Amino acid sequence: MVETAPNIDTGSSAQMANGAVAQSENNPFKDLIKQLESYLSNEDIQLISKAYEFGAKAHAGQKRQSGEPYIYHPVSVALILADMHMDADTIVAAILHDVIEDTPTAKDEISSLFNPTIATLVDGVSKLDHINFDNKQAAKAASFQKMMLAMVGDIRVILIKLADRLHNMRTLGIMRPDKQRRIARETLDIYVPIAVRLGINTLRMELQGLGLKALYPMRYRALSEAMRKSRGNRKEVMNKVEITVSAALEEQGVYSKVSAREKTIFSTYRKMLKKKQRFQDIRDLFAVRIVVDSVDQCYRALGMVHNLFRPVPGTFKDYIAIPKANGYQALHTNLFGPHGLQIEIQIRTEEMDQFAESGIAAHWRYKTDSEASLDAQSRLREWLQDLLELQQRAGNSEEFLENVKIDLFPDEIYVFTPEGDIIELPKGATAIDFAYAIHTDIGNSCMSVKIDNDMAPLSTQLSSGQTVSIITSSNVKPNANWLNWVVTARSRTAIRHYLKQLTNKDAILLGKRLLKQALLDYKIQIDEIPNNSLKIVLEEYGYNEINDLFMAIGLGIRMPKLVARRIAPSSQEDVSPQKDQNKIQIKGTEGLAVSYAKCCYPLPDDKIIGVASPGRGIVIHQYRCKNVKSALREADKWVDLEWDDQLETTFSAAIRVTTNTERGVLAQVASTIADSDCNIEHVAHTLGDNEGSNMNFVITVTNRKHLAKVMRRLRNRKNVHRVIRIRS
Ligand code: MN
Repeated sequence: MVETAPNIDTGSSAQMANGAVAQSENNPFKDLIKQLESYLSNEDIQLISKAYEFGAKAHAGQKRQSGEPYIYHPVSVALILADMHMDADTIVAAILHDVIEDTPTAKDEISSLFNPTIATLVDGVSKLDHINFDNKQAAKAASFQKMMLAMVGDIRVILIKLADRLHNMRTLGIMRPDKQRRIARETLDIYVPIAVRLGINTLRMELQGLGLKALYPMRYRALSEAMRKSRGNRKEVMNKVEITVSAALEEQGVYSKVSAREKTIFSTYRKMLKKKQRFQDIRDLFAVRIVVDSVDQCYRALGMVHNLFRPVPGTFKDYIAIPKANGYQALHTNLFGPHGLQIEIQIRTEEMDQFAESGIAAHWRYKTDSEASLDAQSRLREWLQDLLELQQRAGNSEEFLENVKIDLFPDEIYVFTPEGDIIELPKGATAIDFAYAIHTDIGNSCMSVKIDNDMAPLSTQLSSGQTVSIITSSNVKPNANWLNWVVTARSRTAIRHYLKQLTNKDAILLGKRLLKQALLDYKIQIDEIPNNSLKIVLEEYGYNEINDLFMAIGLGIRMPKLVARRIAPSSQEDVSPQKDQNKIQIKGTEGLAVSYAKCCYPLPDDKIIGVASPGRGIVIHQYRCKNVKSALREADKWVDLEWDDQLETTFSAAIRVTTNTERGVLAQVASTIADSDCNIEHVAHTLGDNEGSNMNFVITVTNRKHLAKVMRRLRNRKNVHRVIRIRS
């Protein structure tokens, strides 16, 4: 007779409403309580009972497809986890795992009624429910598994999700056949590999069996029928082997638990596929597990069974010395048993046995005393540490870390395209990285982004599970700022490539203008360069076409005057240059091929000169800047420039402001500058003399008049002693 749960408040109205349900013999809650009593404290069980009441109320009136009250499902999930001896928080979260998803109950409410850990666990499970695996993406299953692991901060979320899936698989029969197949495929592709990785083998085996049954019902039925038929004398053999082995070990003083079992239908099916064998040809249909006290006795037991039955050559595997990547340890060997049947023998210690059955969950088992206070992450670390030690003893720790750690603490995030494809990106990746990951053209024209249907800035960092949709526009161009926002090499390369192309385009235009100007000295129009002299020049310089030559000039690699001299017919060589008429006009729209010197910050109306700087194009200085003095001595290093009349851009200018040392002076100066329609690009404080302190500003202005106005305003402030423009 099953005892009823202690401390259930049967007085509440919800409980009354569910009274009939609670007493129904199908209600798994009684079994849950019974199981919990075997390992949890009364206090924990009270909390779990409270969760049951809460959940029953939240799901009141909802029914599963089978017609049963909905609450049976989460309680069954909790029971699966209780069988694994999971802690109270996990059990409570399992009972509540569908309340955020299916009812209006919010995370905050769970947090205040129970505790924040439980709220986080429930929320984590709900988030996983939002990502839907689609059959079309079977090939992406591996990414999907990683995505699930990447999304959870607490591995107990995965354990609840696995238990949830197991219960859904157990009750799958009620669904339409096509739905059954879809869920079964998802189970085998996504959930089983996760269970394998975490070493949760008992649960994994059941999922595999149920998955096979739902996906290939005919094959499953045929196989189980065949196994049933051939079972006849096998059962006898199994018993005999069990007794023989157990007696022999006892005689040698080795305490052991020996159990013979049939191999699962799934593993038999897989073996048939892998070895392309018919059922009749599969020889090792059952296994005998021997659990002993110590590692030492494992090897002794192995020697003894090899004495009893002849081993099958090449089948011995020492997973104790070299554990599997998920920590599985045992000795495996195949023996020739009676009647030509093969027997697989698995020998391991009690501890290894527990590990083999529940893997990581074994480390989450409810622990008493001080250990109970260990939080989830420390348990995970503890588990990893144990595995690491195992592997180090076996001498292959690197392989282990590759296998386990990467997937539990992934450095990647996984996001969806609107079509449901999964894109893998490094942690910290932004919407721009996402755009470039899809296609360079999308990246180059991305204007804005929708993350889970909400507009967001392009620089937003993405996180796993989000659906990301990029909005493009032909008006958008990548700019150098984007380089600060991207983390993938792919985006960075694409942006740099684009900017370089842009520079090249600008350089061609500028180069053409510079050459055109230089040719005026020889009274040659650029479109009238004689074909053969152009050909000779291009050949000499090693360019294929005239645009290459323009680009080289624009980038400051070739001097326009030298090129002009080469092009000009020798008869005109002594034409005297008429410099003043031949100045290039600077319009401020030359793009990246022209830059403004940061030593003297030339402004419109300043007298200027251009200095060719290989790779950087033409750098514009003030004519009186001391940095151009040496270039001026070589006629070919510089070009004459003047400002165009219509300039619509802004320029940088440098000023030094000397003030007294009163507090708040910087703020006053800054606001004066801002009030004059200027941006402050840069401020540097330099040491002043005894009069006060010096501040160097780089500000944006439209021309010299604008600058003069700002300086006048600054001088009018009472704390300002002196304002000067810095010219190199
Ligand atoms: Mn569920």
